[in-house]
Amino acid sequence: MTEENEKEKLVFHERTEMIFKIIVIGDPAVGKTSLLTDFCGEKFKYEYIPTVGVNITKEPVTIKDDMGKDITVNLMIWDIAGQPQFYMLHRPYFNGADGMLLIYDITRSSSFSNINNWWSTSVKYGLSSIPRILIGNKIDLKDDRKIILPMAEHLSEKLGTQFFETSALTGENVKSIFQKIAELTLRSKLEE
Ligand code: GDP
Ligand code: MG
Repeated sequence: MTEENEKEKLVFHERTEMIFKIIVIGDPAVGKTSLLTDFCGEKFKYEYIPTVGVNITKEPVTIKDDMGKDITVNLMIWDIAGQPQFYMLHRPYFNGADGMLLIYDITRSSSFSNINNWWSTSVKYGLSSIPRILIGNKIDLKDDRKIILPMAEHLSEKLGTQFFETSALTGENVKSIFQKIAELTLRSKLEE
C-alpha cells in the first residue's frame, strides 16, 4: 500500500460516523419527549415518520474511550409520537435498536409496573441483550413519589439495566442518561 493510500484510509476511518439507534419507551406522559427536548435544547429538531408514528432526532454525544480520548458518537433517538398503544409498536420501531431507555414516572405506579410489559415487547423483538437504562423521571415532584428507590433497584437488577432518576423539569441527570447510553452502546459495539 502506498503512503498516499494509507493516509486516505486513516482519514476515512476518522470521518466514519458512528450512528446508534436509541429507542425511548414507556407509558404516555412519563416525560419521554420532555427529556429529549431538555437534552437537545435549541438544536432539537425532529423528523416525523408518519408510517411508523415516531419522531426521530439526531444528537452527537462526546464520550471518552478507555485511553481518555474523546470520541463522538451520534445518537439517532426514536420517540413515539402521540399516544402509544401496544398495537402501534410494530417492528420498525424496535428493529435494529442499539440501545434503549425505559422510562417511568416516579409518581405513577402503573407506569412503573408497565415497564415489565415494555420490556417483554422489546424481548419479543429480539432486543434482550442491547444496552438499556431504566429511568424514573419527575423526581422534582418529591411529595408525590410512589416508587421508592429499592423498588426501582430491584426491577433494574431483574431486567439487567443501569438505573437513573431524572427530572426533565430541572434537568437533573438528563445529560447523564444520554452520555451513559452512548457509552454503553459504544462499548457493546467494540466488544462485538
Ligand atoms: P411523553 O408522553 O412520555 O412524551 O411525556 P411528555 O414529555 O409529553 O410529558 C408529559 C407531561 O409531563 C408534560 O406535561 C410535561 O411537562 C410533564 N413532565 C415531563 N417531565 C417532567 C418532569 O421531570 N417533572 C415534572 N414535574 N413534569 C414533567
Ligand atoms: Mg411524547
